[in-house]
Amino acid sequence: MSHKSGEQAGVTFSLPQVEIGPSGRLSCMTQDSASAQREVGSDLIIIGAGIVGAMCAHYAINSGLRTIVIDRNAVASGTTGAGEGNIMVSDKTPGPELDLALISRELWFEVGARVGDTFELVAKGGISVARNNPQPLRGLAQSQTLVGVDAREVDANALSKLEPFISPEIKYGVHYPQDAQCQPMLAAARILQDFQRRGGQLRSHQEVISIEETSDGVAVKTVDTVFRASHVINAAGTWAGEIAKRAGSDLPIMPRRGFILVTAPLPPYVFHKVYDSDYVDNVASSDADLQTSTVIEGTKSGTILIGASRERVGYDKSMSVPVIKKLARQATSLFPVLRDAQLLRVYNGFRPYSPDHLPVIGPDSRIKGLYHCAGHEGAGIGLSAASGKLISEMITGVKTFVDATPFSPARFQNLLVS
Ligand SMILES: Cc1cc2nc3c(=O)[nH]c(=O)nc-3n(C[C@H](O)[C@H](O)[C@H](O)COP(=O)(O)OP(=O)(O)OC[C@H]3O[C@@H](n4cnc5c(N)ncnc54)[C@H](O)[C@@H]3O)c2cc1C
Repeated sequence: MSHKSGEQAGVTFSLPQVEIGPSGRLSCMTQDSASAQREVGSDLIIIGAGIVGAMCAHYAINSGLRTIVIDRNAVASGTTGAGEGNIMVSDKTPGPELDLALISRELWFEVGARVGDTFELVAKGGISVARNNPQPLRGLAQSQTLVGVDAREVDANALSKLEPFISPEIKYGVHYPQDAQCQPMLAAARILQDFQRRGGQLRSHQEVISIEETSDGVAVKTVDTVFRASHVINAAGTWAGEIAKRAGSDLPIMPRRGFILVTAPLPPYVFHKVYDSDYVDNVASSDADLQTSTVIEGTKSGTILIGASRERVGYDKSMSVPVIKKLARQATSLFPVLRDAQLLRVYNGFRPYSPDHLPVIGPDSRIKGLYHCAGHEGAGIGLSAASGKLISEMITGVKTFVDATPFSPARFQNLLVS
């Protein structure tokens, strides 16, 4: 609501800004000093309007919490805008992350139905291929099958039917029909639009500067507003460590850079997400140095996305010709038909890396009222639905659908950020 002022008997006066939220609660900003701040109240504040923040908002509003999402930029302007949108179960070894991924995959389709949009969500399936010894991939697939993953071994003949343009040198693969893909930016935008339609508030272009514990909850400050609530969720992705610091706590989330090559639109050459089986090892590696493995997939528009690289080089946005060359070379060895493809663009983004490769979901060990939902690294799109549901269950105090202990921020209590 705009600031109102007028003149009466030669005296300039100003009315305080008053805002009525969907809950009927008033917020107010006095205009007397430059340092005056608007006060806004709600039950829950979510910092970050990426896919994780959007899913947190979705489940919070489902639970009846009056919720405000704050982002310093626009929706999906962080790593969500750089993600490929895979919702994968195939690249995870049995354990808590795979358990979460299996549930999250189902929830994605539920969220789509609830929001009334598909976000280009499609269960197109993934294929992991072994260039040499098939045993490690076979062993992984067998262990995954035991925990509910649909993993089907395919020989050269079956492979050529699933992927007619794959190199004939590839003799063994595993087909994972559950692997899905969505358009992550569209998903975050649509989920947050639905959230707003149901009374949630979105404040973009407001940077969170500090978070303080108060007698009845938390105060989250931006440059001109104090947001008060019982709880705050830190869904700031790669920047979640910075948010934790601003609250007086700590979280060892670091950027892990990844490049994506995007070809000009092509005829349909790649029908699944196809990747080298060493990708699983690269994902799980804690090495800061460059790792690359071939990951290729088509999109609805006909472009082909080529990845994947991983390296911890801080927030260095610069292009790396050696990485780009390496990714292109690996891709053409898997799909020789791509040798003539033109590159449309190359971009990079920063995965929110946590030292043990598990997301951080749960209450901060120091600051009451502060919850974290971050550090999903290269799986944040896929895991976002289950993460949002889990954190909303924690905050509302209902029994969680999965044991959240492996994701607890407390596991890092004695760890220093490297
Ligand atoms: C090349 C690449 C490919 C990927 N492919 C996949 C994939 O196929 N499948 C998959 O599951 N994952 C993939 N990922 C990972 C995935 O993109 C991330 O895990 C996910 O997007 C993280 O989402 P988020 O909402 O936690 O973070 P973000 O999308 O980064 O959102 C965090 C938000 O917090 C905001 N913020 C930060 N600081 C502040 C502040 N002080 N005040 C207010 N707002 C703040 C930022 O502006 C940002 O919008 C990929 C990542 C990369 C880099």
